[in-house]
Amino acid sequence: MELLVVDDEETLRSVVSQVLSADGFEVAEAASGEEALAVFREKSHPLVITDIRMGGMSGIELLEEIKRHNPDTQVVIMTSHASLDTALSAMRNGAYDYLVKPFESLDLISAVAGRAAEKARLVAQNRELLNQLQRANSELQEVNSVLKEMAVRDGLTALYNHRHFQEALALEIARTNRSGRPCSIAFMDVDNFKAYNDTHGHPDGDKLLRRLSELLVSHLRSSDLAARYGGEEFVLLLPDTPKQAAVRIAEALRVKVEQERFPGRERQPLGRVTISVGVASYPGDGPDAKAILACADQRLYQAKHGGRNRVVAE
Ligand code: GH3
Ligand code: MG
Ligand code: MG
Repeated sequence: MELLVVDDEETLRSVVSQVLSADGFEVAEAASGEEALAVFREKSHPLVITDIRMGGMSGIELLEEIKRHNPDTQVVIMTSHASLDTALSAMRNGAYDYLVKPFESLDLISAVAGRAAEKARLVAQNRELLNQLQRANSELQEVNSVLKEMAVRDGLTALYNHRHFQEALALEIARTNRSGRPCSIAFMDVDNFKAYNDTHGHPDGDKLLRRLSELLVSHLRSSDLAARYGGEEFVLLLPDTPKQAAVRIAEALRVKVEQERFPGRERQPLGRVTISVGVASYPGDGPDAKAILACADQRLYQAKHGGRNRVVAE
């Protein structure tokens, strides 16, 4: 362990250095508090043994500076009998221990330094464990937020899933009840999707669903929410949106899909990939979430029966 010995008396400094070098410490020396601080700022030693009374910066001031710089460093104060009071106040300021000069025996220096080194090791170990814990903790938080996000997303399209949509709709209806401003939903289904799967295969069908999802997301305002309701059914939640505005949004989306050059679309029964949409608004079309969904579903069914590739809202 690296250790810094600070004393303005050269003989004393070298006695301490020799004893502690023999004990296996890697010892550096400084002849004043200022010099010690300069050395310490370069490389913070885990252990410092310093005289208390020196010309210039005192051992107490050095102790304070060191603790400010690295609170983990253990500081041992060397003092004479005369300044024992100062040594005690140094202990209150965070010194680990003190040695009284002249030294009773050299073994005492070894013993005190040995204990201080053990303390420094434990403090360092503790710090490392704390860091590990913090790292593990923040990794856990990251994983948690990923898991949370996964729980509300659909695996194929990354749109919100059915369950999240239901929760969002319930919240939106409650909000409408407070604000009095209607909200709408647009329930949509890909036309003749079975034919697309049959012609191009399931993997290409999946690609179409993903591309369609991107179109949906790019079409929406930031307050809107798009979810995959199931299979090739999607639903939009449009807060603060009365029926007419919702129809405009749905109609623009229908046109966007019909114009999108999905691969192989020419082999679809209508010559392109299209969607049918049923729009319903709260509170106009029903008293609760269930009724609004049933209404939109019913209108989607009408859109299919009317020839597909259309929006029904009445
Ligand atoms: P309609 O115009 O009446 O909606 O006809 P359709 O063929 O789209 O409807 P139908 O309900 O007969 O077929 C839906 C198809 O969607 C059948 C099913 O295999 C397919 N499908 C559902 N989920 C997925 C999926 O995740 N990936 C793929 N590739 N196909 C899916
Ligand atoms: Mg379909
Ligand atoms: Mg369907």
